[in-house]
Amino acid sequence: MSSRISRRNFFNKTVSLSTGALLLKYMPAFGAQNKGLMPIIVTSHANKTGQNAMEAGWEILARGGTALDAIEKAANIIELDPEDTSVGYGGLPNENGIVQLDASIMDGKTYNAGAVACLENIKNPASVARVVMERTDHVLMVGQGALDFAIKWGFKEEDLLTEKARKTWLRWKENQSENDVWGPPAHLREKAKLESYWEGFPEEEFHYGTTNVLAVDMNGNISGITTTSGWSYKIPGRVGDSPIIGAGLYVDNEVGAAGATGRGEDVLKSLASYFMVLRMKDGRTPQQACEDALEMIIDKYKSIGSDYLPGEKFIAINKFGETGCATMRRREKPKMSVMTKKGYIKYEGTIARPM
Ligand code: ASP
Repeated sequence: MSSRISRRNFFNKTVSLSTGALLLKYMPAFGAQNKGLMPIIVTSHANKTGQNAMEAGWEILARGGTALDAIEKAANIIELDPEDTSVGYGGLPNENGIVQLDASIMDGKTYNAGAVACLENIKNPASVARVVMERTDHVLMVGQGALDFAIKWGFKEEDLLTEKARKTWLRWKENQSENDVWGPPAHLREKAKLESYWEGFPEEEFHYGTTNVLAVDMNGNISGITTTSGWSYKIPGRVGDSPIIGAGLYVDNEVGAAGATGRGEDVLKSLASYFMVLRMKDGRTPQQACEDALEMIIDKYKSIGSDYLPGEKFIAINKFGETGCATMRRREKPKMSVMTKKGYIKYEGTIARPM
């Protein structure tokens, strides 16, 4: 508690100083155990797929490859995991049962960025975002235009809705309301409730989920990707924070990179990833930057008299190979996958408001 208060005081003090960047000293802190361990690749996914993704990205980095190639390779692995209901293939659909994907990529070395939003039928939206970045003079493409563009570049159109995601969506749809026609006939509804029709299918009423992949390569160049199927059961056409540069992702080659997962609407309003990179530029460690961003959002709600705490998780790395991870309100500490020459670790972050 006391450390939280002092951090907030520190934050309030520094943002009120226009020359704060000059006054702050670099302070090694939580996350500094990775200092000097470059190259480095991290992801917000702390499961087995996240580990596999890190190992694949690491292979590229270890042989002197670019951060850009490493993050794309790693993100593609997470996107292709059919069991993952929050990213790419197998992601939960929108309220009409259509999977719409958002993704962004940013390359610090070239100060270049690309993104796609509401992209349907393409398993690897992060790779389409990379083509937008490298082969167009645009940053963001959406919907049918993004799909047409992807097809022109040889991406294969495929059905992204897995059996698991489809059943999960149908179950949600049936449970939405007693006042619609989804579900068994009215006179059988109670009975049907007792039956285990949906047994074996996860009861995911609604959820968030996304992945961030960030890396620094041997040459000190930094790149990042954020890719997602967005909020489950979102209104068709909704675009989240993930494909918005500065919101779901930001990279500055002189500083580091940051990414967001969770309630995108709050990340959009706060441009949290850009904010985290600015905080690191001002001398904050990646861990402190993640915590600052959460406090900034909490303070915004406080300023209008609300104690609303949106569910978000932020991750960050800096050019020194330090890492950070923090979440808004949880019981368990947030984790992220980190891969360096020391091998794979699960880095444990902090909780802004422990439950
Ligand atoms: N940030 C994503 C979005 O709002 C969802 C998530 O990360 O869970 O679409």
